[in-house]
Amino acid sequence: MKTETQRFDSKQPSLEQRLRDLQHFGEEGGVVPVIDLASTSTFLNPKDMEQTFKGEKEGCYLYSRHSNPTVSMFSQKMAALENTEAAIGVASGMAAIACALEQIVDEGGEIIASSTVYGGTYALFQNIFPKQGIKVHFVDISDISAIQKKITSKTKVIYCESMSNPLLRMAPIRELATLCSHHNLKLVVDNTFAPCLVSPAEMGADVVIHSCTKYISGSSDMIAGVICGTQYFIASLIDVNHGRVMIKGPTMDPRTAHELYMRLDHLPVRMRAHSKTASFFADQLSEMGIPVVYPGHPSHPQFSESKKLFNPGFGFGGMMAIELPTSEMAMQVSQELQDVKFGLYAVSLGFSRTLITVPAITTSSEIPVEDQKKMNLRNGLIRLSVGYTGDPEQMLARLKKIIVKYRV
Ligand code: PLP
Repeated sequence: MKTETQRFDSKQPSLEQRLRDLQHFGEEGGVVPVIDLASTSTFLNPKDMEQTFKGEKEGCYLYSRHSNPTVSMFSQKMAALENTEAAIGVASGMAAIACALEQIVDEGGEIIASSTVYGGTYALFQNIFPKQGIKVHFVDISDISAIQKKITSKTKVIYCESMSNPLLRMAPIRELATLCSHHNLKLVVDNTFAPCLVSPAEMGADVVIHSCTKYISGSSDMIAGVICGTQYFIASLIDVNHGRVMIKGPTMDPRTAHELYMRLDHLPVRMRAHSKTASFFADQLSEMGIPVVYPGHPSHPQFSESKKLFNPGFGFGGMMAIELPTSEMAMQVSQELQDVKFGLYAVSLGFSRTLITVPAITTSSEIPVEDQKKMNLRNGLIRLSVGYTGDPEQMLARLKKIIVKYRV
């Protein structure tokens, strides 16, 4: 069985409390920590450096591509959020996905992945990993028996997004974790769409990833990622001989880590604000007869199961989608929504303002059209990353004014 895997202890404080209670002070007692920019650190005893290189000693700051005090502080906060033993900040969400998976899966190994993943992840799996001798099988992640049939002695990982992009389907994390336990596989979950809302490690995921570019940043002003997991796994990523983060080098800059550290304090408040506005819009549009996709709306196919997946008190998040008949209509609506200052036509998500995309022809365009059809991703789907700025009633009035013209 998995010796280095930790499981959730229900007696622990809530994620909000864990985040709040993990406090670092500035050198002179400042209420915020300082940024440690040093790229290299002095060893008072040369023996310690030798042992660090040999992997016999942990916890020494060596060189900032290996570890940095400010990045470590941010990483500790992310581990507190995701309830894992440890974490490591990296340069981007894609770096987090690639490094975590390459650390687990060697040449000749296989991954079973949800077919409804972010387009960049799909491209990594479809175009890059095969060149490294890693095969990825795409599956309907809710179909446990189909997944079971794909497992062979070469399978090392099951990979999914907690809330899929852009169809907002929830992965059955507990069932997948049980399957992984039986077959000695690792469950790797991208939780980018659902920080605070969903806690994959508490449901048995081994590794939790975020693109911090999104909700963790909240301001669409940086690119960053994080890998959360066991102490053992995170240490393996910075091993001087085999660690994918240490050797490939997609490290997080300490200035970025400091910014993100500060923003984690208000992440729970922001997530509630996103959820409140998105839920309000979803209810109102649905009442008008507009087909919406929102995990917190009764029309969502997994609405009744959602309560078991979402943490109480944070709502169902800021991501929603609206179905229109064609991509031309979706683009026209997007244009008009931008013109009336409802939102911005831009990729990405998790910003304080609403971001609008038409995924089939943009962020999911890496996925071949026949696969898009299989996963039910239609051309006319508009994805909204609902922001919380502005007066919700007035923002809704703008949305309704445009969308009503396209109601079929
Ligand atoms: N995972 C998901 C679900 C995403 O939506 C994205 C980017 O949109 C990524 C990962 C990649 O993150 P980054 O752009 O920070 O590399």
